[in-house]
Amino acid sequence: MSDYNDKTILVVDDTKSHLAMISAILQDYNLIQCNSGTDALEMVKKKQINLILLDTNISEINGYPVCKKLKQDPDTQQIPIIFMTASTCEKDINKIYEMGAADYVVKPFKHSQLLARVKVQLRLQELISRLDFLSTRDSLTGIFNRRKFFELGMTLFNRSGQELYVLMIDIDHLKKINDQFGHDVGDIVLKKVANVVKEVLPPDAIFGRMGGEEFSVMYTAQTHELSMDIVSDILETVSKARIPLKDGGSVSCTITIGIGRKYSEFNSLDSLLKEADMTLYEAKESGRNTSIFRER
Ligand code: GH3
Ligand code: MG
Ligand code: MG
Repeated sequence: MSDYNDKTILVVDDTKSHLAMISAILQDYNLIQCNSGTDALEMVKKKQINLILLDTNISEINGYPVCKKLKQDPDTQQIPIIFMTASTCEKDINKIYEMGAADYVVKPFKHSQLLARVKVQLRLQELISRLDFLSTRDSLTGIFNRRKFFELGMTLFNRSGQELYVLMIDIDHLKKINDQFGHDVGDIVLKKVANVVKEVLPPDAIFGRMGGEEFSVMYTAQTHELSMDIVSDILETVSKARIPLKDGGSVSCTITIGIGRKYSEFNSLDSLLKEADMTLYEAKESGRNTSIFRER
């Protein structure tokens, strides 16, 4: 059994004998072969690629512009590229790094050398994606942390009109749950609420923990009614969820939701979040397990 089956490497070379040799060296990985730069640029859109081995000298468009395009595209710029070059000239090597490539091998190369360089890049890429995950998630619930929520939220805010909604969600009486059942049960309640809300949300909604027992959601809805349906679904699903306890019993909780819609008077994400905060406060005052939306 190979350890590497889950890694896919795209090999771009127009010499058949090279492709055959590389396939033999990297037999433990999933390999996809392309013999032109155009095909390679198409392939990265279709498949999840972990690493690209790119010949500098391929027909049609050569390796350099392919690398440049991949590094300019936010969807592909994180894929490490190892150039395969026949040149040892310093100028050419510098160009490879300037293009944003991660590494290079000089042809003809030793099998062990290619394999070692591939392993290093895959390991680095794994570490980077793990770090990226850790720095963007809330450690308790696994959803986006506040910083990532704002980063994604700003982009969505800037490209959306009145179809954009923001929810501020606050768990009701979490302090009482902590006091009665213990902080660890409070933590389980937080996790459960996050999971349950996530399941009800549209797949492209942005969902983050703002801190403490407060969550925020941003989504766009085709109609106001559809948006309010989402809010009702969230309230209902959370209130029905049972959280099992170690002693065989269970606990449940409710949440309260403040709603903001991107009317023209809200010209920043902060002002929209403030609106959701104000309506959350009103909804709490009105008795909890409910939501409030203010028509403008
Ligand atoms: P309200 O309905 O007014 O929101 O009541 P509440 O008790 O939920 O709100 P309050 O603001 O009075 O207190 C927040 C509580 O949330 C107290 C705090 O210990 C708890 N809390 C915040 N973060 C965590 C956490 O990470 N884990 C646990 N277990 N509790 C948390
Ligand atoms: Mg609170
Ligand atoms: Mg609360």
